[in-house]
Amino acid sequence: MTQHTFTPDSKLPALGTTIFSQMSALAQEYQAINLSQGFPDFDGPEYLQQQLAWHVSQGANQYAPMTGVQPLREAIAEKTQRCYGYTPDVNTDITVTAGATEALFAAITALVRPGDEVICFDPSYDSYAPAVALSGGVLKRIALQPPAFRPDWQAFSELLSDKTRLVILNTPHNPTATVWQAADFDALWQAIGQQETYVLSDEVYEHICFAEGGHFSILQHPQLRERGIAVSSFGKTYHMTGWKVGYCVAPAAISAEIRKVHQYLTFAVNTPAQLALADMLRKEPEHYLDLPAFYRQRRDFLINALQESRFRVLPCEGTYFLLLDYSAISDLDDVSFCQWLTKEVGVAAIPLSVFCDGEFPHKLIRLCFAKQEPTLQAAAERLCRI
Ligand code: PMP
Ligand code: GLN
Repeated sequence: MTQHTFTPDSKLPALGTTIFSQMSALAQEYQAINLSQGFPDFDGPEYLQQQLAWHVSQGANQYAPMTGVQPLREAIAEKTQRCYGYTPDVNTDITVTAGATEALFAAITALVRPGDEVICFDPSYDSYAPAVALSGGVLKRIALQPPAFRPDWQAFSELLSDKTRLVILNTPHNPTATVWQAADFDALWQAIGQQETYVLSDEVYEHICFAEGGHFSILQHPQLRERGIAVSSFGKTYHMTGWKVGYCVAPAAISAEIRKVHQYLTFAVNTPAQLALADMLRKEPEHYLDLPAFYRQRRDFLINALQESRFRVLPCEGTYFLLLDYSAISDLDDVSFCQWLTKEVGVAAIPLSVFCDGEFPHKLIRLCFAKQEPTLQAAAERLCRI
């Protein structure tokens, strides 16, 4: 009998496996110290783990409500009030998602129609573009220039059109470690205020911010939050990226559309983890206040340990990523350099060009410093030898 196999005409022909999976696999193959994919090599709060086990033992093992369990949505509303002086409606404005990744995908899918234009700032997180493409949208990319990586509002207004349905921003920013100020949000509002353009604000590193003015959320901007979706991730805040629980906050009418996608993408997020997170938020509502000092110490440790190296370290105002310029060391393009670094030096990093479409004319790599000091020390020693 003839076997009929098909190769589907790809909806995402240019896309391969993500750089994070690729570099983590390469790091494992070559036994390199993995500072590529962003995840901590230490555990989150013990209480959170205990509560997860407890809720499982108490039978919280069936579907959660589609929008998230009530105590977690309540705790998120309280947290949002405490941090940003704004209380979203517990029932209509908060949706718990399978990590920030799902919130981003659901929001983009819900808002972007075929032919709509979407503006993002490059380098940009790798999940935005495929979601826009699958929705039939057209992505317009604005290149941020090192070392400051500030948005260029002139370039923005040139890209803006009456077809611009969505703007995607990310602060604190992965991978450039820069932070938007209130003035940036004002500039965005000035540009889009007169038209129906929505704003997706990826704020997963909201609590890992070292900038003097702190993190500014879209939820603090009275006009933009009326058309904004703020996305957050418990994975970053509680050092457990593998739990994949995040959420988005948006006005009721926008949330309603996001929920239409969410209910058929995942329907609901795992119940015991949501209940454990609700307990954690209630028991230690101010946990996040320790995060800047906690991560600043790791950032400064790594910067200090790299002092004798030939890398040039770029400023880092937020996230747990540090950018290094390697132009004094090698002429290789950044992807080749990261492969060489993993195989020959034993340190895995992320090339920045993968966050841009095509050419990225700078010699920059990203290191993750959410690691214990001995890990950072060992990596820095290797990096200082080249
Ligand atoms: N946005 C950015 C900027 C990220 O760095 C990440 C993950 N590192 C995500 C979204 C996805 O978060 P999650 O793991 O909660 O899906
Ligand atoms: N967001 C993480 C990073 O930037 C990786 C997440 C993933 O592997 N998809 O490294």
